[in-house]
Amino acid sequence: MKLKDKKVWITGASSGIGEATAKLLASEGAHVVLSARRQEKLEALAETITASGGSCEIAVVDVSDRAGMEAVGRQLAEKGGIDILINNAGTMPISPILSGRVDEWDRMIDVNIKGVLYAINAVYPGMAERKDGHIVNISSVAARLTYQSAGVYGGTKHAVRAISDTLRKEAIRFGVRVTDIQPGSVDTELPDSIAHEKIRSAVKDNMYAEESPILKPEDIANGIMYAISQPAYVDVSELLIRPVIQE
Ligand code: NDP
Repeated sequence: MKLKDKKVWITGASSGIGEATAKLLASEGAHVVLSARRQEKLEALAETITASGGSCEIAVVDVSDRAGMEAVGRQLAEKGGIDILINNAGTMPISPILSGRVDEWDRMIDVNIKGVLYAINAVYPGMAERKDGHIVNISSVAARLTYQSAGVYGGTKHAVRAISDTLRKEAIRFGVRVTDIQPGSVDTELPDSIAHEKIRSAVKDNMYAEESPILKPEDIANGIMYAISQPAYVDVSELLIRPVIQE
């Protein structure tokens, strides 16, 4: 088993990419710490993983809650720390900038940027001290390109990519590896976070057009698995994974 005895913390594990990654990593022998806000979803996932012989625990937390994230970090450190962080929680309430949905901008910045930083801060000092660890941040193809109506979301994902590469350079001397995964369109609940009705239906029409099969969450989980199962001298710094049809 590739990940036997590794402890992996997955944020945003209650659906989509996080859920698929939790199942895959647990099936490869990792002990997975499942995080999100929806406790009942995490409990159902934990049952599935346990029933298949996997090992897991739950940490219900909002990634934008700084004190809550610090508390989870302390609890995980007391239990021996985390080997791999999958920094995956995210939200995408996109809209044109002119629509001035400032609360949604704040939410994206809080979850997609601050949440990522809070999770890093919760585990990185322990990894640096042990001189071992891997931090996998999930940004997006929107970390490389820009899309109309996705200015703030794209801004948060560009920030995650920049933070990832900076952290990678800083963490080298502490034996900690950093990977930035950039998914293209994946079939998950993410578009449901778009409150702007016209944009939500345009995004869904575009994503689910018949001639364009999009990725499954498992396709990204496989990319994550590839990145974290390389020998210690290999750093998969970035991985852009798109459906064939996506420009
Ligand atoms: P989902 O909506 O299925 O999953 C998002 C996850 O994030 C859920 O588990 C949700 O759990 C969690 N989450 C959201 N807000 C918070 C919060 N404040 N605190 C803690 N957890 C939170 O979407 P995906 O699986 O697609 O998204 C995973 C990541 O992949 C995101 O970062 C997204 O930006 C990125 N991505 C997705 C793409 C796609 O096409 N689907 C493309 C490119 C990148 P809960 O609601 O229970 O808290």
